[in-house]
Amino acid sequence: MGSLWHGFADMGAVERDGAFVLARGEGAYVWDEDGTRYLDATGGLWFANVGHGRREIADAVAAQLTRVAHYSNFGDLAAPVTRELAERLAALAPVPGSKIFFTSGGSDGVDTAAKLARRYWQEMGRPEKTILVGRQKAYHGMHVGGTSLAGIPVNGEGYTGVFMPDTRTIEWDQAKALTALIEEIGAERIAAFFAEPIIGAGGVYLPPEGYLAEVRQICRDNDILFVADEVVTGFGRIGGSWFASSRFGLEPDLMTTAKGLTSGYVPMGAVFIAPHIAEPFFAGGVWWRHGYTYGGHAGAAAAAMANLDIFERENLLDASKNLESLLHQYFSPLAEHPRVAEVRSGLGAVAAVQLADPAEALPFVKTLRTHGISTRAAGQGALQISPSFVMTEPQVADMAARFTKALG
Ligand code: PMP
Repeated sequence: MGSLWHGFADMGAVERDGAFVLARGEGAYVWDEDGTRYLDATGGLWFANVGHGRREIADAVAAQLTRVAHYSNFGDLAAPVTRELAERLAALAPVPGSKIFFTSGGSDGVDTAAKLARRYWQEMGRPEKTILVGRQKAYHGMHVGGTSLAGIPVNGEGYTGVFMPDTRTIEWDQAKALTALIEEIGAERIAAFFAEPIIGAGGVYLPPEGYLAEVRQICRDNDILFVADEVVTGFGRIGGSWFASSRFGLEPDLMTTAKGLTSGYVPMGAVFIAPHIAEPFFAGGVWWRHGYTYGGHAGAAAAAMANLDIFERENLLDASKNLESLLHQYFSPLAEHPRVAEVRSGLGAVAAVQLADPAEALPFVKTLRTHGISTRAAGQGALQISPSFVMTEPQVADMAARFTKALG
């Protein structure tokens, strides 16, 4: 019996079958303790955008930790590297002049956005705007706020009581569902609408053509803050641009990011706040009593800086755009297999192989390991593909061939 309690696990099954212990990573590969190599189909949990084993990031973190690991970001405190990173991120922001609020990860970012949306409307003299709207299939992290905003029912099962009041969930793919909710409860009650540009953990569902622009416009017309949850799609995952919001011209009021910000080398998240939302808080005399001990952690900021250097030097935004077509090209044919219901791909360096029988997904993840692939199940029976941007065409071809062989 081990002492480690894994996240999202049936621990009885883990105890019975053993853990899958990965000891090493390099580029698009990981190795288990016995030295068996696997193609990392998921890039960790969608975060290893620059690939595994980058000494340059480790060295940057070590150098920072030996100067000072961290102090604090509260009040007037900051580390030089944290300030530099904020400037660098602001220059990449989909809305020019954005402010950057650092967190320890994506769930923190979602709660930060949820609280800031309500705090903003309070500040604007509209305290009745409290309702936060999420969508079916959505995943917004596991804090109380994100759990309430999400639309994956199993994740909310097994509890009694309301997590966060004043939240509503609508259909994920119809802009008219937002209009209908506005008609039902009134825009004057709604603080913000949260959307992942691509549904991620809910199973990799791409937005219908025009959907994002349409909901964005509805929010604008109704004084509802538009929150883009780009924890997965940010930092190049969307393909060809830093953020999905840039690619689709969404100009989010708030944008949450994490994962690809450091490629997962050190935990860190960042919330991008459009200037008109930040303005009342920068005008003087207004407090926002919110923050995390490790927000803007200097070691994490150093990791992010080194990570962004790699992105720029190796043109990884182009690489992710290339992967967008490669994944589509090599994985679409798998849809013909009788065990596969559909393959979702063609937007961003992500894809999903949707099994016809969702109950097959977990056993199939284990079968894939015997074929040298590490992946995971997302949504209802979808196998997640979200590799590092360093994955090459031969590796994509190899991955698709191994999937096909494993399907039998
Ligand atoms: N939002 C989205 C869209 C995510 O995919 C995730 C994590 N998969 C989160 C928020 C939560 O991030 P974290 O696990 O870093 O708290």
